[in-house]
Amino acid sequence: MPLVLYNSLTRRKDPFVPIDGNNVRMYVCGPTVYDLAHIGNARAVVVFDQLYRVLRHTYGADHVRYVRNITDIDDKIIDAARANGEPIEALTARTTALFHADMDALGALRPDVEPRCTGHVPQMIAMIAKLIAGGNAYAAEGHVLFAVASWPRYGRLSRRSRQEMIAGARVEVAPYKRDPGDFVLWKPSTPDQPAWDSPWGRGRPGWHIECSAMSEAHLGETFDIHGGGLDLIFPHHENELAQSESAHGGKKFVNFWMHNGFLSVDSTKMSKSLGNFVTVHDLLEQGVPGEVIRLALLSTHYRDPLNWTDEALDQARRRLFRLYVALNRGKHPVVRDNDLALDPVREALEDDLNTPLALTHLSDLATLVNRSHDLGEIEERDRLQGVLAASGQLFGLLSIEPEIFLKGEQRSDDALIRSRIAARIQARRERRFADADQIRNELVNIGIILEDKPDGTTDWRKA
Ligand SMILES: [Zn+2]
Repeated sequence: MPLVLYNSLTRRKDPFVPIDGNNVRMYVCGPTVYDLAHIGNARAVVVFDQLYRVLRHTYGADHVRYVRNITDIDDKIIDAARANGEPIEALTARTTALFHADMDALGALRPDVEPRCTGHVPQMIAMIAKLIAGGNAYAAEGHVLFAVASWPRYGRLSRRSRQEMIAGARVEVAPYKRDPGDFVLWKPSTPDQPAWDSPWGRGRPGWHIECSAMSEAHLGETFDIHGGGLDLIFPHHENELAQSESAHGGKKFVNFWMHNGFLSVDSTKMSKSLGNFVTVHDLLEQGVPGEVIRLALLSTHYRDPLNWTDEALDQARRRLFRLYVALNRGKHPVVRDNDLALDPVREALEDDLNTPLALTHLSDLATLVNRSHDLGEIEERDRLQGVLAASGQLFGLLSIEPEIFLKGEQRSDDALIRSRIAARIQARRERRFADADQIRNELVNIGIILEDKPDGTTDWRKA
């Protein structure tokens, strides 16, 4: 089955065909480096990493060029550096390193190119000059603004009316703007703010032009996929689209626009003031394995809203634990060969990244491994374990040696063992003895010995 992706531009699933033969080019908006990554940031990274893995599997690792920028020029950075009393370069370097460490822990592959805004200011200035020359932008009082009236297709990506766009962008009313919808390409800096020389005075670029210039520098004028969170579709992506196509004489900017859905925490919008701000760093510090966080993020389809709860995290943990237990049956090294991945897992992923369905196939596969192990069909078990490992790899999961993962889990989480014992007692009560035995086997496999008491409770100890 060919790869099919939902395109925000056409509002439907379209077959994906690369522009350049077998070579795929993808740009994803990266982090603004002033603070720790929260799980909303992580969702976008993991979703597009999942797509990157599927593309690499389909077209070959050398045929996918994935660019994700680092935004290291932004007013939020200037404000945070001032509040911390630290130099901007120190803040952005520290935050970038933390971002890398957190995303590595989630199994997200590094992009092929990770351009920084500070390294591309000349390209931004060149693009702004081109927009002015073409009548799409104008300089006024040290600012350069994009003239939305010069681009009739403005609003076509986010499908918003002019009124909605003006309200949605919370545009500043400034006397130098010809139209309230015009947005900043360049703005002047005060002596204490970062600044570069330009034909319009010393200043710095606006956020939107940064991505247009960096994608052009590393992927060319037209490329295959542009991704980001749904919160970026307006104004950021709408503005990128207007700038790039205007600067390139109307030439198509991007074939597929892809957006991942919103994330809430306990059904509430995540915000620092509400105290429900969950960072990847904190979760990892609490001993939650990165693969558990990854699985929790992929358990919901990427276009659906994701509600982050302790329960969902716990569920992901149990699910991954079960996969590792299956991989550990027989306690022998498992052959890891990507080509062995199960067809239904691959096909589900190729259908607009249907990760919930693909994960169900992965769980079914674990059941088959357990069954063949219990029946003593060693060859079949080993074969299925190879398929499970390869299918997990397509997901960025099961990358750890099973024994090591299970031992780590066992040390860090007695609560998990207790919850499995409770599930087993429940299964016995409901006379689902096969399920109860399965849980006992899982636990035995990681060195947990159960002792059933006459009063219906169960004691446990480590072997
Ligand atoms: Zn961007």
